[in-house]
Amino acid sequence: MNPKRLRILKVGIQKTGPVLYWMQRDQRVYDNWALIYAQEEALKRSVPLIVVFNLVPSFLGATIRHYGFMLRSLSEVDRELKKFNVSFILLSGDPLVEIPAFISQTDSSLLIADFNPLKIVRRWKKQVADNINIPFHEVDAHNIVPCLVASNKLELAAYTIRPKIHNLLPEFLDEFPQLKKMKNIFPDTTNNDWQKIIDTLDVDRSVKEVDWILPGEKATQEMLNNFIYNKLNDYPAKRNDPNIDGTSNLSSYLHFGQISSQRIVLEIIKQNETSVLQNSFLEELIIRKELSDNFCYFNKKYDSFEGFPIWAQQTLNIHRKDKREHLYSTEEFEKAETHDDLWNTAQREMVNTGKMHGFLRMYWAKKILEWSPTPEDALKIAIHLNDKYELDGRDPNGYTGIAWSIGGVHDRPWVERKVFGKIRYMNYLGCKRKFDVIKYIQKD
Ligand code: FAD
Repeated sequence: MNPKRLRILKVGIQKTGPVLYWMQRDQRVYDNWALIYAQEEALKRSVPLIVVFNLVPSFLGATIRHYGFMLRSLSEVDRELKKFNVSFILLSGDPLVEIPAFISQTDSSLLIADFNPLKIVRRWKKQVADNINIPFHEVDAHNIVPCLVASNKLELAAYTIRPKIHNLLPEFLDEFPQLKKMKNIFPDTTNNDWQKIIDTLDVDRSVKEVDWILPGEKATQEMLNNFIYNKLNDYPAKRNDPNIDGTSNLSSYLHFGQISSQRIVLEIIKQNETSVLQNSFLEELIIRKELSDNFCYFNKKYDSFEGFPIWAQQTLNIHRKDKREHLYSTEEFEKAETHDDLWNTAQREMVNTGKMHGFLRMYWAKKILEWSPTPEDALKIAIHLNDKYELDGRDPNGYTGIAWSIGGVHDRPWVERKVFGKIRYMNYLGCKRKFDVIKYIQKD
């Protein structure tokens, strides 16, 4: 593994027990740099390798839709790891207590975690580091160019990070080594009953699981193949039409780390002419996605008004008192009870299927700004609904997409108008020019 993917979170003292990979964001067996590095370290020390997942009873409003998708995929991780003599241990409870306790219990020699720019996970890691005495390493297994290598500051927009990432891609877009079968095995007799775990989990069950997308690494591969063979070439022309299933549908898999974006790019390059590098899909998957990690890592206020650029805060402040033509409560938004049939249909699509089309996500969030008393309310409502219903919610892409729509993040000032100020505006007529709005609404 390229050592630039690695960050030392704690130096710690030398011990001789197993190596522990605390799997969080990158929930997969294959193409996972954190797991590959953990295995390299375990082999070097001739000790067993354990993968531990700490299930928290509540995580940023996640519901059974999210937990079910995640746990069904983790059951596959559990089965698959056994082929390599790697134990998978499911812990449950507060990671600040469970991870240090498990380290003591197993006398582990090294803790490894994957990279996540979100505040809550960074806080966990910091506090775990304070509560253990062994070395703690972090590997960026999510981004192709590790977030902290791509840039050491908050980037202004796609155009500022793009050349940095493009320059570094040849170095980091390398093939993954295969996992090896471990000779040193951790004596583990646990047998997780995954269905029981899912059935007895104490979480919000009002948001139903969805069946149009199957969880797990194998299902991801099928979704990817379908995209490459059937949709990739037409992606630039069809990606903005919500009446067409023209996008990859990979965001939930990427969010839960069931596939690596690096594998997606390697597969696309392998199966296509080099001209594929111009396809706008790669701009979304690499630049936009990695820019979102940059935004959330370097701007701790990524989910608040103060995280917006100064020009955007100023213009929204000037327009605070503008009369709103329509005002809705969170409940009215949630129940799709606005005057706008397009907005309501998009909202229902998200509630029912766990996925709103990408083009409509922009319109959806901008209208929440237009129809809320303050930009702060709008931001809170959009994050709440996005994270509650989107299967790919609670992702840096989500916080960034909402901040782009409502707060001008990574965008520039546009013509000034009511409520929005200089934030880019979108309206119903504009949507009608882009796609057949009536057809979309009639599908509802
Ligand atoms: P494709 O068009 O096939 O794109 C491929 C991949 O590129 C996506 O899976 C995603 O990883 C990445 N990508 C695409 N568009 C963007 C973008 N604008 N910014 C960053 N990465 C992008 N994405 C999420 O993953 N989770 C969210 O919660 C989320 N919420 C959003 C909310 C709003 C208001 C907006 C404007 C965007 C949001 N996005 C979110 C970004 C984007 O809309 C989704 O990633 C995309 O629609 C997912 O569908 P797909 O996988 O079929 O995308």
